Amino acid sequence: MQLLDGKALSDLTKAQLKEKVDQRIAEGKKRPHLAAILVGNDGGSETYVGSKIRSCEEIGYKSTLLRFEATITEAELLAEIKKVNDNDDIDGLIVQLPLPKHISVERVIESTDPEKDVDGFHPVNVGRMVQGLPCFLPATPNGIMKILEHYKIDTIGKECVVIGRSDIVGTPMSILMSRNTNPGNATVTLCHSKTKDLRGHTLKADIIISATGIPNSVTADMVKDGAVVIDVGTTRVPDTSKKSGFRLSGDVDFVNVSPKCSYITPVPGGVGPMTIGSLMLNTLQAAANKD
Ligand code: NAP
Repeated sequence: MQLLDGKALSDLTKAQLKEKVDQRIAEGKKRPHLAAILVGNDGGSETYVGSKIRSCEEIGYKSTLLRFEATITEAELLAEIKKVNDNDDIDGLIVQLPLPKHISVERVIESTDPEKDVDGFHPVNVGRMVQGLPCFLPATPNGIMKILEHYKIDTIGKECVVIGRSDIVGTPMSILMSRNTNPGNATVTLCHSKTKDLRGHTLKADIIISATGIPNSVTADMVKDGAVVIDVGTTRVPDTSKKSGFRLSGDVDFVNVSPKCSYITPVPGGVGPMTIGSLMLNTLQAAANKD
């Protein structure tokens, strides 16, 4: 069993991006600029946005964090997004999810300029992804593709089961794995909460990608020997031994599943860091698109 070290790959990606930024600046080009919108005080969101801003600093991007109270109205938030859209210095915009319930995530995503949509959530980018056209690929699934590419994992003609069909992870993941690309070219089955006999599907899988957010739901009896297992889940579970009072748990019962795998991502240190790595790649692309 080999660990797929997303943290190390993310560090490498960021070091390569730093070189590219230094080169851009030496050529008199603009420093890439990422804006992040954070609404409310959700602990997880604070952590994720904090890591994204820190990554910008490491690489040499400019970053702007725009914070709003959870009471901001949808109209006010859309007006703030328009300001970012109209600001020529800002290349990329992310709106950290989840948003308070009174704000429509769809309207927020659709109001983002597709050319600044470095999360790859806008329908224009999703449509272009489906058609294999140049676009911003969604960060988590693209981070997983980068991990598969880096470790030269053979995906061509393999049986791939994706568990979870969210707009931001499972659905785009199934599309990227089924495209005529390398990595890709897998035969993909997309499972969800209505799937009958999930175990029957996963037992046939050469590659399992789980994104349900249900800790320890992928168990050893669901995984065939030699499978590649990618664990997207990051659920906070109470843990009194930690200073924070919680730890992050993946979807996979790592202790019992990992001995059966050829490759597996740890949680933390697997998919999460490469989600940020791929967001950083998109941000440089957004700036370069305007050169
Ligand atoms: P989500 O929107 O809650 O979607 C969960 C999906 O799991 C749904 O499609 C749901 O099916 C499916 N599901 C629920 N119970 C199931 C079951 N018993 N069997 C099979 N499928 C089941 O979640 P998400 O936003 O995609 O996130 C999933 C997890 O990934 C979370 O832990 C999240 O924190 C994590 N995440 C991590 C990163 C990262 O960078 N590491 C990034 C994004 C998300 P239905 O559609 O039928 O309801």
